[in-house]
Amino acid sequence: MASPSHRRSLRTRRTVLVSTAAMAAAGLGAAVFAMNANAGAVDLAHQVLPAKDGWAASGTGTTGGAQADSAHVFTVSTRAQLVKALGSATNSTAKIIRIKGTIDANANDAGKKLTCADYAAGTGYSLAAYLKAYDPATYGRSKLPSGTQEKARAAAQAAQAKNIAFKVPANTTLVGVPGTNAGITGGSLQVKSVDNVIIRNLTFSATEDCFPQWDPTDGSTGNWNSAYDSVTLRGATHVWADHNTFTDAPHLDSANPKYYGREYQIHDGDLDITNGSDLVTVERNQFTNHDKTMLIGSSDTDSVGKLRVSIHHNVWKGIVQRAPLARIGQIHIYNNYFDTTTLNGYAPLYTVNSRAKAQVVAEYNAWKLPSGGKTAKLLSGDGTGSVAGTGNLVNGTATDLVAAYNAANSKKLKTTVNWKPALTTGLQTTAKNLATELAGTTGAGVLS
Ligand code: CA
Ligand code: CA
Repeated sequence: MASPSHRRSLRTRRTVLVSTAAMAAAGLGAAVFAMNANAGAVDLAHQVLPAKDGWAASGTGTTGGAQADSAHVFTVSTRAQLVKALGSATNSTAKIIRIKGTIDANANDAGKKLTCADYAAGTGYSLAAYLKAYDPATYGRSKLPSGTQEKARAAAQAAQAKNIAFKVPANTTLVGVPGTNAGITGGSLQVKSVDNVIIRNLTFSATEDCFPQWDPTDGSTGNWNSAYDSVTLRGATHVWADHNTFTDAPHLDSANPKYYGREYQIHDGDLDITNGSDLVTVERNQFTNHDKTMLIGSSDTDSVGKLRVSIHHNVWKGIVQRAPLARIGQIHIYNNYFDTTTLNGYAPLYTVNSRAKAQVVAEYNAWKLPSGGKTAKLLSGDGTGSVAGTGNLVNGTATDLVAAYNAANSKKLKTTVNWKPALTTGLQTTAKNLATELAGTTGAGVLS
């Protein structure tokens, strides 16, 4: 029987044992066992990370809010309801939050839509005044913006943050109710210094910063930086992000203006895993229409011994970079499909970047390269990161991406790593069918 891992029953091991024992006692066949398994299946909201399914299965595993009592199972459809259900960021009571439909984070408690102008009201901020104040032609490029307009920008940004940032407490499952287009638009889920969180079956769209900050010292020409990732993990442990869709839509970067010659970037990351986060499994998501997709480690000096992440069976399509950008940690990237065709103006720079001594194992992934695309540009690095692993395909052909990268670059990727992945439930040792298989088994809306 074909058993793609998305279909495997996600009941607990205990249930499996009981069912197996019952089946054996009754002397029933496999077909009947399958029926029993379905009858005893745990509902989507109570499912836990399967055993050995990536780094998040390490140690105590990841159960999210599965142990919630009935008073802590919430169904929410508005921002205010979501805030109430999440409760205090330090309350670790197990809770399940079922999101029904799309929650607009840019809404007030009464449900009224809030605009950028609403957040800026009373702060004195205006983009025109900001652009005049920090124009490199007069302000120079040596120091960060400071003074009246920067203060006003920060105040307006804080007002938006208060509305759109959702702090997720420990022992929480956030799950989209099937069939409802469940998700959060304009919001940022923030999992900070907590353990045991599950995020599933949700579409994250339009996470936009109304008030990007100019940094003339970022790179050689300066950059506009935004504050919000759709999902941000900082010091978070045991997190399972499964079957979610991430997209900038409907306001795509390709529609952004340029100021000071640089794109006015209103998006930050899709799913960033930083500040000593550890034991994370990123599974069967779709990352699409986005630039800086996934950061692992916020700087080259983020935490040594942490940042262990498994990334498998995801689709990356119409993204520019950071799929992921990996630093320091032991990172397993397998059975992903990277479509590097330009989509909606999102032209890929690279997919996987291994730097700051990252120990990446990338195996049995498939890349689609458009006509004229270069295999040597699929990876990136700083000369200290590793990428090991075999079984990778480019346009269906077995390809050594590291060799191709190293032949074209002086800062070469290392090819050996200091670990061997052991938590690999669902790993398929061929990437041949991934494009087709993952098209229908990833992202929000396919779980029932
Ligand atoms: Ca940024
Ligand atoms: Ca970020």
